[in-house]
Amino acid sequence: MAFGRLPLPAAEKGQTMQIEFLGATREVTGSCFLVRVGEHRLLVECGLIQGSREHEEHNREPFPFAAAEIDAVVLTHAHLDHSGRLPLLIKRGYTGPVYTHRATVDLCGIMLEDAGYLNEKDVQWENKKRQRKGLELLEPLYTRDEARVAHRQFVGLDYARPREVLPGVRLTLHDAGHILGSAIVELELTEAGRTRKVVFSGDLGHKGAPILRDPETLAQADLVVMESTYGNRQHRPWEETWQEMGEIISNARSGRGNILIPAFTVGRTQELLYTFRTHYQAWGIGDWQVFLDSPMGIEATEVYASHARVYDKQARQLHAESGDPFELPNLHLSRRSQDSMQINQVSSGAIIIAGSGMCTGGRIRHHFKHNIWRAQSHIMIVGFQARGTLGRTLVDGARRIRLWGETVQVKAKVHTIGGLSAHADQNGLIDWFSHFENRPLVALVHGEAAAMDTLAQRLASDCQAKVVQPDFREKLSL
Ligand SMILES: [Zn+2]
Repeated sequence: MAFGRLPLPAAEKGQTMQIEFLGATREVTGSCFLVRVGEHRLLVECGLIQGSREHEEHNREPFPFAAAEIDAVVLTHAHLDHSGRLPLLIKRGYTGPVYTHRATVDLCGIMLEDAGYLNEKDVQWENKKRQRKGLELLEPLYTRDEARVAHRQFVGLDYARPREVLPGVRLTLHDAGHILGSAIVELELTEAGRTRKVVFSGDLGHKGAPILRDPETLAQADLVVMESTYGNRQHRPWEETWQEMGEIISNARSGRGNILIPAFTVGRTQELLYTFRTHYQAWGIGDWQVFLDSPMGIEATEVYASHARVYDKQARQLHAESGDPFELPNLHLSRRSQDSMQINQVSSGAIIIAGSGMCTGGRIRHHFKHNIWRAQSHIMIVGFQARGTLGRTLVDGARRIRLWGETVQVKAKVHTIGGLSAHADQNGLIDWFSHFENRPLVALVHGEAAAMDTLAQRLASDCQAKVVQPDFREKLSL
């Protein structure tokens, strides 16, 4: 039985309330959904399309709507595949508010500016080549300044405080437990006396993850727009992950090598610092010097430290008893590149956390250059590594890598730690959905075909749910 191809109900005469799927349809990036209620148009997410260079070119295309005609925007969380085209939307004429959680406002301040900076860098590099070829020069998607200006339109909300954002549109955010400030978006839409409730899962967190609460569950909805990233995968138990990490650190200590950890600057970096703090004695962290070598990672950690209200019970308790839960007595913050270069002098006893998360750029590559050819070094892979990245090459066991045109041998031990995911696995997704008592229609988004198909089958068999997998530009009446 093909679960994916159920036809979407067509609009009835005179009925205008509908949702149009404009991104993350049968893929994981570029989240974007347009909701029409009466005269009003509400955009949920405006994410960056990420992947190959050709695929990313789609970001430059005109939106399938006029930016100036949007009345309000709602954002689930700060990750760029959800937020990364907002400065572009604003550059193209959107003048209204972007409603999101307060912590997301703060994180977006860092992330969108950085995205703007990278856009400028990218285009500079590309334009040098184009100039030589006599081709027309490109404009950045948006600049750092444009991102900064766009950020002024962000409006911070708390969880569980309903707010009428437009006539006939009531918005409530619920904790999604994915990254700091991440939200499940609940919209109550009223048109001509008829009310429909639409719930957007956003990205759902991994139950039991450090720092954050588990995703909240809801009991009622008419439509659930649900992510399906790990719809065909189960994570290993947290305990096993912590045990493995503890063992690697203990073993590395006896071998007197450095441990390099490529980490995403938002989320994973804070989880690592927090876990080092909570396992400080057990893992002998006090015997090491810990370096956070990432200006953006440092800023994101400050944002995490300033939103203790949204922590889970354990993190709140730690915060209440001894302050900032990311602080370690032996933690060194490397903001300037001179600070980063000084770490090169340390040949043993350093744990170095640096970006980028998939080793495609950033300071981690400099640390590879100084450590990866030494047998006593360790590399700890703690995040997803996409095909084609240097991180993936290491996971796959490469014995040689290329760094700045030079071939470097890999003598370091490479450890891949599974289980540290910010996304719910298949059981987590099913469990979250099973709390809806009225078995609403589910529209699956934000997943690759295999993950979506498997999740659709389980939702149908375990929860008797009716599941659709909308295509790009498909509309669903509400
Ligand atoms: Zn996310």
